[in-house]
Amino acid sequence: MTLIDGKKTADDIKREIAAEVQKMVARGLKRPHLAAILVGHDGGSETYVANKVKACEVCGFRSTLIRHEDDVSEQVLLDDIARLNADPDVDGFIVQLPLPRHIDEQKIIEAIDFRKDVDGFHPINVGRMSIGLPCFKSATPAGIIELLARYDIPTRGKRCVVLGRSNIVGKPVATLMMQKSNPGDATVTVCHSATEGLADITRQADIIIAALGRPGFVTADMVKDGVTIIDVGTTRVPDPSRKSGFRLSGDVDFDNVAPKCSFITPVPGGVGPMTICSLMKNTLLAATGAVYPR
Ligand code: NAP
Repeated sequence: MTLIDGKKTADDIKREIAAEVQKMVARGLKRPHLAAILVGHDGGSETYVANKVKACEVCGFRSTLIRHEDDVSEQVLLDDIARLNADPDVDGFIVQLPLPRHIDEQKIIEAIDFRKDVDGFHPINVGRMSIGLPCFKSATPAGIIELLARYDIPTRGKRCVVLGRSNIVGKPVATLMMQKSNPGDATVTVCHSATEGLADITRQADIIIAALGRPGFVTADMVKDGVTIIDVGTTRVPDPSRKSGFRLSGDVDFDNVAPKCSFITPVPGGVGPMTICSLMKNTLLAATGAVYPR
């Protein structure tokens, strides 16, 4: 069994990006600039945004953080977005999700100029990705594909089962796994809460990508020997023995499933660090105009 080290892979990629940025600066170009809008004080969102700001420093990017309280109006966010869309100094930006209920998340996503949508959530980027055109790929699915590539895990002709059909993980990762590419070329099945006989389906899988948000959902009896497992789940489970009061739990019963695997990602330290890396990569692509020429 090989443990896929997402932290080390992400550190390697950030070093590669930092080297690219150094070359850009040496050529007299400006540093890539990523902006983030954060609403409220949700613990998870605070951590994600802090990690994104830290990753910008490591990569040599500029970063700007715009903060609002929970009761911010939709119009104020739309005004921020319009300003960032028009600011030639900002290469890409994100609005950290989830947003409070009184704000229409889809309206916010669609207000972002797709050429600056480095999270890859805008329908134009989603659509372009699904037909294999240059685009900003959604960060978590792109990070998963990068892990499969860097660990040389064969995907062509393999049976891949994706657990979950969300717009940010399940659907886009299924799309990428079925593309005529490497990694890709897999035969993909997507399972969700209405799937019947889910364990019979997972038992046939060569690759399982679990994105449910159900701690320990995938158990040893649901997988075949030699399977590759990418565990996207990150649920905060109360743990009084920790200073934070919680631990992060994946969707896989790691201790019992790992011995049956050829490859498996841990939680934390698997997919999570790669997601931030993909965001950095998209920002670099935005700054260089490699996806959408400026
Ligand atoms: P989501 O929007 O809540 O979607 C969960 C999906 O799982 C849904 O499609 C749902 O089915 C399906 N599901 C839930 N319970 C199920 C069950 N018992 N049987 C079969 N399917 C079931 O979640 P998400 O945003 O995709 O995130 C999934 C997990 O990944 C979460 O733990 C999240 O924190 C984590 N995540 C991690 C990263 C990272 O960077 N590491 C990034 C994004 C998300 P229905 O569609 O039928 O409801």
